[in-house]
Amino acid sequence: MIRLYVSDPLCEGGRIGPTPEQTHYLLRVMRLAVNAPLLVFNGRDGEWRARLAEVGKRGCVLAVGDLARPQAPVPDVDLIVALVKRGQLETIIEKATELGARRVLLAITERTNVDHANVARLAAIAVEAAEQTGRLDAPEVAPPRTLTAILGNLEGRHLMFCDEAGDAAPVAVALGGAAPGPWAVLVGPEGGFSAAERAMVRARALATPVSLGPRILRADTAAIAALTLWQSALGDLRLDARRAK
Ligand code: SAH
Repeated sequence: MIRLYVSDPLCEGGRIGPTPEQTHYLLRVMRLAVNAPLLVFNGRDGEWRARLAEVGKRGCVLAVGDLARPQAPVPDVDLIVALVKRGQLETIIEKATELGARRVLLAITERTNVDHANVARLAAIAVEAAEQTGRLDAPEVAPPRTLTAILGNLEGRHLMFCDEAGDAAPVAVALGGAAPGPWAVLVGPEGGFSAAERAMVRARALATPVSLGPRILRADTAAIAALTLWQSALGDLRLDARRAK
């Protein structure tokens, strides 16, 4: 069943005009016929059954039916990741979406050797991954800012600091008994963090340094492993996640 992320509010009887790209996808790629069913969601109002109601020269209209799944609370975990090469960054956005990151914040650090990111394209990748993965929201992708600026804005958010330097405890140990949320997971660039950055991050009251094991992982692998381990310690993969629901 096709799931489409839309920006309009959703309610029974509503009518939605998909974007030109979505229209192309529905009519040309998926070849939907009038009355074909699909699902729509917008990150706020839950997931709704809908059908292709009208097809015209200029676009199409979706008619919203009833609620399929109500919006449910999700673990509050952000991924802060240093800018890396485009291909790796795209992988990170896709996998972070699948693994339930709420937002992805792109960081400029001392050793980032990439100076920009196509945020619109990354946001589109996040939406596409959200459509496929069944989640009810799509993570926001925030434009690159310096690590210092990002850390300065974290407020009461806990930070799981993926520190490749080797002396941190494994995630299950470091996060055992930690407060559930809100959290952010921090992953560095290809060149790693500088000594000054490590000291700055570790000096934060709410920072917990963690190791991802004895092997140095590439940033994309590190982001995937870190989110998986966070979800397993404190998020919706933890042992008692079902019971808590
Ligand atoms: N060039 C660096 C490695 C950078 S790997 C070096 O050789 O030390 C990119 C990022 O992934 C790191 O900054 C860190 O945040 C994360 N990472 C990779 N492997 C890790 C590990 N074993 N433990 C914790 N974090 C790790």
